[in-house]
Amino acid sequence: MELRGLQKSYATRTGHVHALSAVDLSIRQGEFVAVVGPSGCGKTTMLKILAGLEEPTGGSASLGGHPVRTGSGDVGMVFQKATLLPWKDILANVLLPLSLRRRPTSADRTKAMDLLAMAGLAEFARKRPGELSGGMQQRAAICRALVHDPSLLLMDEPFGALDAMTRDTLNVEVNRIWRETGTTAVLITHSISEAVFLAERVIVMSPRPGRIVEEIIVPFDRERS
Ligand code: ADP
Ligand code: ADP
Repeated sequence: MELRGLQKSYATRTGHVHALSAVDLSIRQGEFVAVVGPSGCGKTTMLKILAGLEEPTGGSASLGGHPVRTGSGDVGMVFQKATLLPWKDILANVLLPLSLRRRPTSADRTKAMDLLAMAGLAEFARKRPGELSGGMQQRAAICRALVHDPSLLLMDEPFGALDAMTRDTLNVEVNRIWRETGTTAVLITHSISEAVFLAERVIVMSPRPGRIVEEIIVPFDRERS
């Protein structure tokens, strides 16, 4: 993943907001990067560009040597809210990224069940989201993000709405899932301790305009507990 001289400004009624200015960032395959910084420093904008949901107004974003495009399908996303479909069971929710494209095969179902088992949710596959706790729903959302084997997992404050104990449990879980899948991961968080716990590298951003002001390499032992 390569960001080169990345710029993004939004047109507003009163002019332009410079959300990102000259962001350079390389992310290795399989790396875990956390992004921290105050509100408005461009974290979400950067994640949306990585996902192909926003076009940069300057510079470039590429994944595996190809420009990031909307719908390239190579990205899994997790948001602050689990956003599961309440009328579908957990298995169907996890299968959703695949069933939007084709009728899920039995191999797809096996894959989804393996992910649910990895997240400790195997016995909840046939339950509706409303029957699960917030932490369990968020774990299911992570399974959904991984079901199509994305080469990039993007998480925007995935645990921001959860209590501290649930967060700690899920951090251990995400660390294990990341090691087992080998996916490249980018996490936005307001928690420095969460960033340092999960990531190999922490990117610190600053606002007006949004830019990278510091990079911290976390002394690393991949397994956290
Ligand atoms: P963060 O995620 O770090 O809080 P954002 O990427 O959401 O930062 O926002 C960066 C800046 O861009 C902020 O000043 C924000 O108000 C502005 N911004 C974000 N999205 C839009 C938009 N759709 N239209 C106009 N301004 C936006
Ligand atoms: P999390 O830390 O993922 O939010 P909780 O602390 O809420 O999970 O729940 C811990 C365990 O309690 C779960 O792994 C599950 O086994 C059980 N549990 C929680 N909520 C429910 C529920 N609504 N139905 C059945 N079992 C539940």
